[in-house]
Amino acid sequence: MKIQNVVIIGSGTMGSGIAAHLCNANIPVTLLDLRTEITEKARDRIFKSRPPLLLDKSKINNIKIGNISDNFDVVKEADWIIEAVVERIDVKHSIYKKIFEERKPGAIVSSNTSSIPIKILSEKLTKEEKKDFCITHFFNPVRYMGLLEIVKNENNDLEKINFLKNFCEIELGKGAIICNDTPGFLGNRVGVYAMQIAMTEAFKMKLSIEEADAVFGRPMGIPKTGIFGLYDLIGIDLMADVLKSFIKELPEKDDFHEVAKEIPLIKRLIETGYTGRKGMGGFYRINKADGKKVMEALNLETGYYLPIKKINIKSEKVDLKTLIDRDDKYGEYAWSVISKIIMYASSLVPKITKEFNDIDEAMRLGFNWAKGPFEMLEEIGVANFFNKIDDYNENIFLKDLAKTKNEKFYGERQKYTDIQTLGKVKKTALSIDGNKSAEIYRFNDYNIVEFITKANALDYDSMDALKKATDKPLIIINESMQFSAGVNLSYTMDFADKGDFKSIEKFIRYFQETCKHLKYSEYPVISAPSGLTLGGGFEVMVQSNFVASHTNIVVGLVETIVGLTPAGGGCKEMLARWLETDESRKDPNFAPLKVFDIIGYAKTATSPVEAEPMKYLRVEDKKIMNRNSLLEVSRKIIKDNMDFKAPNETTFKLPGKKVKDEMIKILEKLYNEKVILDHGMEVGKELANVLSGGDTTIDKTLTEEDIFKLELNSFMRLVETKKTQDRIKHTLSTGKPLIN
Ligand code: NAD
Repeated sequence: MKIQNVVIIGSGTMGSGIAAHLCNANIPVTLLDLRTEITEKARDRIFKSRPPLLLDKSKINNIKIGNISDNFDVVKEADWIIEAVVERIDVKHSIYKKIFEERKPGAIVSSNTSSIPIKILSEKLTKEEKKDFCITHFFNPVRYMGLLEIVKNENNDLEKINFLKNFCEIELGKGAIICNDTPGFLGNRVGVYAMQIAMTEAFKMKLSIEEADAVFGRPMGIPKTGIFGLYDLIGIDLMADVLKSFIKELPEKDDFHEVAKEIPLIKRLIETGYTGRKGMGGFYRINKADGKKVMEALNLETGYYLPIKKINIKSEKVDLKTLIDRDDKYGEYAWSVISKIIMYASSLVPKITKEFNDIDEAMRLGFNWAKGPFEMLEEIGVANFFNKIDDYNENIFLKDLAKTKNEKFYGERQKYTDIQTLGKVKKTALSIDGNKSAEIYRFNDYNIVEFITKANALDYDSMDALKKATDKPLIIINESMQFSAGVNLSYTMDFADKGDFKSIEKFIRYFQETCKHLKYSEYPVISAPSGLTLGGGFEVMVQSNFVASHTNIVVGLVETIVGLTPAGGGCKEMLARWLETDESRKDPNFAPLKVFDIIGYAKTATSPVEAEPMKYLRVEDKKIMNRNSLLEVSRKIIKDNMDFKAPNETTFKLPGKKVKDEMIKILEKLYNEKVILDHGMEVGKELANVLSGGDTTIDKTLTEEDIFKLELNSFMRLVETKKTQDRIKHTLSTGKPLIN
């Protein structure tokens, strides 16, 4: 069996997201809806989506469109038909009737339902039809969310289900977990419970919404949207519908009922149009006061909005033990929420799932949690957990664990896949070394470095780990969302605040040395990025010998946004890449001007397809849909390069003043048009200085060290200015650029 042609019925949020993702995988796909205009609009939405649902926007027309009255014939050719219409059983049943009349024998039919059990969806199907029918529950946004729950029941042809799982894993890059036919499957059952407990405990403990979100967020390894922010993002009205469906489906004594009761404040928000970000606001809203936009938060007691208060609970890293032991309301809230999530998740084992590990992985892939409930339990410590709780007698999993108190109960990770993932392999590491910013895993024939700071921002320790690990082939890879968002700017600003620019210079030199070391060490270095690969993160990647990139990357040199120029080899490598082109051989100005344009505008690519034309990635770099496969692909690169020899050092012929003058002209034009202001001009001039080769002439050949020096000098001159420091601080505190 092969899947070479897919039809999706229903072109709303999910249908269009799935269609875009099939298009990413180069699978022919047709979107049908009630009317063709609806699918036209869907295609337009896909095209304009941010973050983009397509890897390559130019492929938009590969998604064919039509309507269910005139174009239903396409179903005859399809190998897989996905139903993604409104969550109404009557509508779904009538669609299935039509599909099964038309589909070719054996074609798979699946529903994207979030809440309707397969036994109800398929109740009108024949026994033969039931064999080919299942639920494929994708998460929104489809390109970015790793989880796909495939729900089967006893009627299914298991070979077909396994085939579909394999296809979705390899071709679509999904973490496909096979689930039983139970309400909310695994992800939403635990995820929505977790949201509800986080919300109801915040109400009970009288925490403000900013306080709750400050705890139920990064300190717990949960995305920073927190709980109230997530409610606003999903839609407060949609959440109310989801809860109603759980209440209807779940048995009366399920603990979910306790946390799913209607809250008067939420009812009022929905009735008054405060349904979240898509409405007039929700728990947070943006208010315009005196012509300025002010972010406000709802006061849960008074029901009035007030400007948000920043809560700093001073937790730099995920450290659950310390968090739950805090002697304040935040510690109390964290413990209450975490312990209840663990209790609920474990109550689902073994009846809902035999494999507790699948719950953890569903929470990682579907909700972007760093750890699932059972890993949280492992981190807190089994004995520690049982010391703090009682009343778990109804819970089979906990009752068994209480008997053994086995701290090592966890065992293998990511059991849902056969791929040798980083999560699995880490557990078999021979010896572990590392520091506060990176872990080094040592194996017989290679090393792994995993960055572990917030957004994997890089500092002295990250460089130390990289340097130490080059005594064998090295793979730089990680499990968290980002490869690296760049150099740790708060670390740099701490030195700047003390006027200690020598230490900044020392760090940048060390950064350069380390990256050079990666490029020229005896053994191959492979970077396997996913997510943000920006600034310093890009510089690490670009100075590795090989790259195995996930298709979901955001890559680029963005230093100019904070008033700096790249100083870890970014300018150098981009010049080297562009100097190799035919155009550059004809025109010596071509490469420096091209790189000036790319770095000057801080251009980023949101996929390998966008990254290649800018030369952030090379044609020969591997591009992989399934993030889980990055490690296997990297290991294969090592195997295929047993006779690896470090490359020769690059040299540079740059036109010096001739091209610098041209760059200054470009800057002056932008300045006159007020596109850039005074400081932008300074930053641009420093960039021009580096990329032109300084005051050199075309006859002189520059070495990598020469360019490193130019990069360092420009960086230092800029970082010492108050305007750059203001830009950095503004970006650190608001996440937004400052134009000065
Ligand atoms: P939506 O409201 O955005 O889109 C539904 C689409 O179905 C609309 O374009 C509508 O015109 C079309 N439609 C309605 N009746 C139809 C018919 N008879 N024939 C063809 N098209 C018809 O809904 P959505 O959010 O995309 O949800 C679709 C399904 O996916 C639902 O079952 C939902 O439970 C599930 N789901 C949604 C999400 C989510 O985050 N939105 C996540 C996972 C699963």
